[in-house]
Amino acid sequence: MYSDVYELNFSKIKTYQECPVLYKLKYIEGKREGLVPASSLGVSIHRALEAYHKESNDPSELLSFYDDCWLGAGYSSAGEQMEWYLKGKKMLETYAQREYERKTMVDSTEREFIFEQKPWTFRGKIDRIDKWPDGSWEVIDYKTGTDIDFTQEVKDSLQLGIYAVGARRAWGLKNGRATLYFVAYDKTESVPFDAFDEEKILNTFIDIGKKIEVNDFEPNPAHCPQCPFNTRCEHSALAKQTQE
Ligand code: SF4
Repeated sequence: MYSDVYELNFSKIKTYQECPVLYKLKYIEGKREGLVPASSLGVSIHRALEAYHKESNDPSELLSFYDDCWLGAGYSSAGEQMEWYLKGKKMLETYAQREYERKTMVDSTEREFIFEQKPWTFRGKIDRIDKWPDGSWEVIDYKTGTDIDFTQEVKDSLQLGIYAVGARRAWGLKNGRATLYFVAYDKTESVPFDAFDEEKILNTFIDIGKKIEVNDFEPNPAHCPQCPFNTRCEHSALAKQTQE
């Protein structure tokens, strides 16, 4: 698998932070994680929301987009699939209720930004971009999981930070906020664009980019218990424990 070493995005950086070996497996060797129920449901919901905002914006139609966009992969049985389908349905029923009160205009969905700081190229794709009546902007990332650590400060989110920087550098959006939308909890948390330290965010990306450039891939055993490759990675701390 070819992955341009000078092209940085949040998924790559997050993966490297979790475990550099995991980065190597995914972005250099091209190994795939495979879908599990939570990630499969995330795909279905993201697809449904994208289609809904692009084609309709009528909340009464949201669930029919969900049905059209449903992805049946990643479930071990029909019963398990139905259980997760109903979880997603509940989330979108609540999302639709909130839609009736929305004061913003949805400007775009799944919009990609790209900007350069040579030799690095920064890319990202933002789930939804809204415009407020006062002319300010809101870039929104949907979180569909239920394993959210709400003690972590959203202002420290590297993902929101690079989205705010990307919106400014690629599209010139200066006045606004970056938001995490926790769909399963019907909860949003926002940070103004100017609360993010652009230099610090870009340096975090570039520092990791430089390690990738020189093939610095040390395992991080602390991440092994939740790693999708922990049964097939030669550095897995779990595999070593089983052998002992
Ligand atoms: S199993 Fe452990 S060492 Fe291997 S990629 Fe996953 S986290 Fe890294």
